[in-house]
Amino acid sequence: MSVTETIDKARRNIELSRSEVAELLSVKKKDEISELFSAASSVRDKVFGKKVFIYGFVYFSTHCRNNCAFCYYRRTNKLPRYRKTKDEVLTLSVSLKDAGINLVDLTMGEDPFMCADEHNEFLEIVRTVKEEVNISIMASPGAVPKESFVKFKDAGTDWFACYQETYNRKLFSELRLEQDFDFRMNQKIWAREAGLLTEDGIMVGLGETLEDRADSILQMGALGCEQVRAMTFVPQKGTPMENTKPTKPIDELISIAVMRLLYPDKLIPASLDVEGIAGLKTRLDAGANVITSIVPPHEDLAGVAQHELDIDNGHRSVQHVMNLLDGMGKKVASNTEYESLLRELKRKQVKR
Ligand code: SF4
Repeated sequence: MSVTETIDKARRNIELSRSEVAELLSVKKKDEISELFSAASSVRDKVFGKKVFIYGFVYFSTHCRNNCAFCYYRRTNKLPRYRKTKDEVLTLSVSLKDAGINLVDLTMGEDPFMCADEHNEFLEIVRTVKEEVNISIMASPGAVPKESFVKFKDAGTDWFACYQETYNRKLFSELRLEQDFDFRMNQKIWAREAGLLTEDGIMVGLGETLEDRADSILQMGALGCEQVRAMTFVPQKGTPMENTKPTKPIDELISIAVMRLLYPDKLIPASLDVEGIAGLKTRLDAGANVITSIVPPHEDLAGVAQHELDIDNGHRSVQHVMNLLDGMGKKVASNTEYESLLRELKRKQVKR
């Protein structure tokens, strides 16, 4: 089947096989890539119009008990680390909301201090931000026990994010060292059972094959995650993967486009964490509809893949991103519109 025929099949909502998904992920010719991106953008526009959503990223603790092979903040990497206080997180969240973001993503490494007493500190931060800022919240605390999800929901969490990075079990064991594949995969299932929306994600360029990537994309869909992401692996100093040859971001863009064709109504991020602001337009052109990793400048906050890129020059600030989106003919959704979308997603989740 030609690429055009496979795209057409996806657009007619006919389920694609694993090999068809892998075939789309393998496109190399310029005209085929353009055709894929243009189809993905048009599928997105049909569902969401010109509207995009913007998320503020508050990476409030870079301490972590885990030792993922790809991660700058892995336990054994000797680095200066920080942990923000509840009041600092609150102040940041207020300023992000005032600047017009739709959601605050409260992220940490698996910080033993925050994980203690059944994540009491983390839950207290969520509760305080929800009560005092009244904004949608994504919690990204790492992997948590099954019984904790109800507490996250009760504290005011809307979304639970937990990235598998790959659904190839062997590769997972080489990347997320000493971690359990099923426990991590079940995070998405348990979160949904507790009534939370879920985000999953893959990393592109970690040594996976195209078939692995296709499997991961299909698996994230099968889990019912309402938000799915793909991010390019960026080799990190001081890690075992420091010298891995980096993949070009085009593979991430193609993954975004394929996810959009398969999942027209899912939220798909354009992360500023890989190429900074320079990569915003290409990701939107590939079919993304959420801008993530917006980080306020001069607050000593880090990104994940690029812990400094474009942060202190303000290029990842809300205002700068909004100005750019304006120039691209995009419209940032109001919080009322975003909350109404979340209600709709939660209604659909209950029906499934
Ligand atoms: S990816 Fe997350 S869990 Fe793994 S070492 Fe980094 S911060 Fe810790």
